[in-house]
Amino acid sequence: MKIQAGTSTTDQNRYVIEKIPEIKKLKNEGVLSINYQKISSISYLIPMRIIISLTELLSFPGKRKLISCNLPYSFFFETRTRCNNICPFCPASIQNDTRNDLYMAEKTFKKCIDELSTLDYHGTIWLHNYNEPLLDKRIVSFIRYASKQLPKAKLSLMTNGILLSPRYGIRLLEAGLDDLVIDNYSDNGILIKNVKNFLIKVASDKSYYQHKFFFLEMRILNAKGDSRAGNSPNRKYNLQPLKLICDWPFRSFVVTNNGDVGLCCKDFKFECVMGNVNRQSIVEIWNGDKFKHARKELFKGNRTWNPLCSKCDGWMGWDGVYNGTLGLAFLFEHLIGTITRWEI
Ligand code: SF4
Ligand code: SF4
Repeated sequence: MKIQAGTSTTDQNRYVIEKIPEIKKLKNEGVLSINYQKISSISYLIPMRIIISLTELLSFPGKRKLISCNLPYSFFFETRTRCNNICPFCPASIQNDTRNDLYMAEKTFKKCIDELSTLDYHGTIWLHNYNEPLLDKRIVSFIRYASKQLPKAKLSLMTNGILLSPRYGIRLLEAGLDDLVIDNYSDNGILIKNVKNFLIKVASDKSYYQHKFFFLEMRILNAKGDSRAGNSPNRKYNLQPLKLICDWPFRSFVVTNNGDVGLCCKDFKFECVMGNVNRQSIVEIWNGDKFKHARKELFKGNRTWNPLCSKCDGWMGWDGVYNGTLGLAFLFEHLIGTITRWEI
């Protein structure tokens, strides 16, 4: 079994997982291998503003060519608008969340999955957005349903791990979850007890979990992140709007509890609604005028078209840039990959 590990913190936290005696033993026995994401110290040395400016400089908007893409690369389903963590940079944290605690109707979720099934979808389905998916106990049955209907799609989920008991985690995997991303938040590189117990449990299994993908990210709880389109409670964005392409609306489709589709994952309150899956088909929304307009403006590097984008310092490669070499891959994808896929 393989665990991929990464961090947005410091190098010493990368190895926290190997400090667990049981994990260390399994690694020494060759049962478990841990692949670390290559993290370049350059991302800590170069201020983000400089990286963004360089990217702005290197993006030649006039030369870009968009080629159409029929379906999003990934879907995000926010099945319950709640999180159980206290990350100060996040509007969904317990102390900051102003939303009502709302659940997505089962029929809304199934309608989307059924439509994707008829389209033979083979992209990625994420079972989270601005929420903690394990707080919605229906998540296991949602995964089971999606797994049956979409055998070619990759089912993924990102959790903060607080509720990830070995039993709950195994139920998710047995329901058909392919990728499990654990964002372990702490200020001192400590693994959450449930995360630790879950990893010991799956790592010790020599057969079943071998084909699953596990990604553990050690993250700082009291951090400042990006502006989250003006939604971050501890980092307001005061600069001029960036002149930078953003490929979120080119790739992703984010659905919240009532079926509304947002502009991107940063649209925390779903203020910029692109459509509603209860009333429209996914294809109709994805190819609709609202998405087209957003893409057209962002493709030109114009973020003033919308209040969210004008306050946003995010883009698809943002997290990747923090992670050094991965960031370079994202940057390449950003400048070259997007050119080859879209046309307007
Ligand atoms: S960053 Fe994730 S874990 Fe933290 S409060 Fe937001 S949704 Fe919850
Ligand atoms: S610029 Fe920010 S708010 Fe606008 S689409 Fe991209 S991520 Fe979303």
